[in-house]
Amino acid sequence: MQMERHSPITPDVVAGLREILGADGIVSRPSELKVYECDGWTMEKSIPELLLRPRSTADVSAVLRILDRHGIAFVPRGAGTGLSGGCLPLDAPIMICTSRMNRILEIDLANRRIEVESGVVNLNVTNAVKAAGYFYAPDPSSQAACTIGGNIAENSGGPHTLKYGVTTNHVLGLELVLPDGEIVELGGPAEELCGYDLVGTVVGAEGTVGIVTRATLRLSRAPEAHCTMLAVFDEVAAATHAVSAVIAHGIIPGAIEMMDRLIIRAVEEAFAVGLPTDAGAVLIIELDGLAAGIEEHAVQVRELMRAGGAREVRLARDEHERTMLWKARKRAFGAVGRLAPNYATHDGVVPRTRLPEILERIVAISARHQLKIGNVFHAGDGNIHPIVLYDERDSDQVRRVIAAGHDILAACIELGGSLTGEHGIGVEKIHEMPMLFSPDDLLVMSELRRVFDPAERSNPNKVIPRPGGCVEVAMPRRQVAL
Ligand SMILES: Cc1cc2nc3c(=O)[nH]c(=O)nc-3n(C[C@H](O)[C@H](O)[C@H](O)COP(=O)(O)OP(=O)(O)OC[C@H]3O[C@@H](n4cnc5c(N)ncnc54)[C@H](O)[C@@H]3O)c2cc1C
Repeated sequence: MQMERHSPITPDVVAGLREILGADGIVSRPSELKVYECDGWTMEKSIPELLLRPRSTADVSAVLRILDRHGIAFVPRGAGTGLSGGCLPLDAPIMICTSRMNRILEIDLANRRIEVESGVVNLNVTNAVKAAGYFYAPDPSSQAACTIGGNIAENSGGPHTLKYGVTTNHVLGLELVLPDGEIVELGGPAEELCGYDLVGTVVGAEGTVGIVTRATLRLSRAPEAHCTMLAVFDEVAAATHAVSAVIAHGIIPGAIEMMDRLIIRAVEEAFAVGLPTDAGAVLIIELDGLAAGIEEHAVQVRELMRAGGAREVRLARDEHERTMLWKARKRAFGAVGRLAPNYATHDGVVPRTRLPEILERIVAISARHQLKIGNVFHAGDGNIHPIVLYDERDSDQVRRVIAAGHDILAACIELGGSLTGEHGIGVEKIHEMPMLFSPDDLLVMSELRRVFDPAERSNPNKVIPRPGGCVEVAMPRRQVAL
């Protein structure tokens, strides 16, 4: 890949940007910019030359018009919690962060929708409508920090994706500022629209088609009842078989999440929530829906767990116990921070029934590369998140982590799965795209992207490898200890 295809920033450009955003809308001090050198994928780092903090769609549009005139590339950023290096600036000197575009614009409960700016934090959407008995279904474990714009770009999921779907199932309409500054409205407040699904094109495009500035989101009615349980297994394989047994039985829980021993111990050490540290794996299963019938389903799930080898099935007796179980799951990534100086969270998908095989493969990959790997993931969706522990100061370990990640994704594809369940391609998996897609597939994706962004200035060097190979992209950016 040729880097530096786009133009550098000039003093004229900075003056123009300052006029639009004011002095407090531009960050240029190297010490402050360092904060933005990576997202949650910390293997690779690259510092932007300028960080812009617009307050409105008009600001974004005016900024992009200037950048368009000067041929300067940019990278959109929400909260920087991405796990595939999506907001890493590569040949894009300017980062545009939506954190000040954080207003909830309209709540329309009668039509079950809400309109928000793209910098609104995911959890704040639910918080805004909770008292009225509604919630916003996509609930990434990072929901207390990540933004709706980031969720849209990554088509994020969460524990409750199994029953409720991912972000794309909950976005009705979007306001997008194209890389030349034009503001376009896609979709709309109505539930069904005819014509090509342009909203669906933008969701999951990882910021390569412009900057999403507003979104109309679908709200869901909060379930009347929940029943949350913890099933404890001695073996990971038994737990994964039990997951398929529940779905095959015709019950779709709100969520089925799994943690293996390494993760259970880390969570327990960090938060002491009462998880059994001698277990091989635990499943958190949440049933939700109408109160009538939920207990009957709970009994059936309990029986299926027992039949599948669970040595214990604990029911959360009240809201406090339920909250504790979800805290354990949602804080798992944080707890892993105690186990090693660094960790890389991978993300792949396999058909649910192939979970036992992929987990066996991960054990073999862990042994082959002599790396510790823990697993905490959305088991109901077959969406795995192997967490590889390492120390970034050791270049040999870093090489092995990259090789292990590649092997895990190759195994996912071999088992009929895909490269990402929810964390996106970013820079992390750009090299792996040709394992899943033919050159023609990739060409079509590039052409689609160029409809929105002809000069490829919005988040360049992400998602789609360029013809002729994408290997060189690793060279100009700083990759830890390589
Ligand atoms: C502890 C932890 C747990 C997580 N759990 C989950 C989980 O359960 N499910 C899940 O799906 N993900 C999860 N993630 C990953 C991450 O939180 C999601 O990908 C999230 O959607 C990123 O949002 P963000 O605002 O941080 O986006 P960023 O990281 O800032 O950006 C992500 C991508 O979106 C683009 N982007 C951001 N804002 C815009 C915009 N307004 N317009 C256009 N493009 C934009 C960026 O260019 C980048 O490519 C987790 C991450 C962490 C650290």
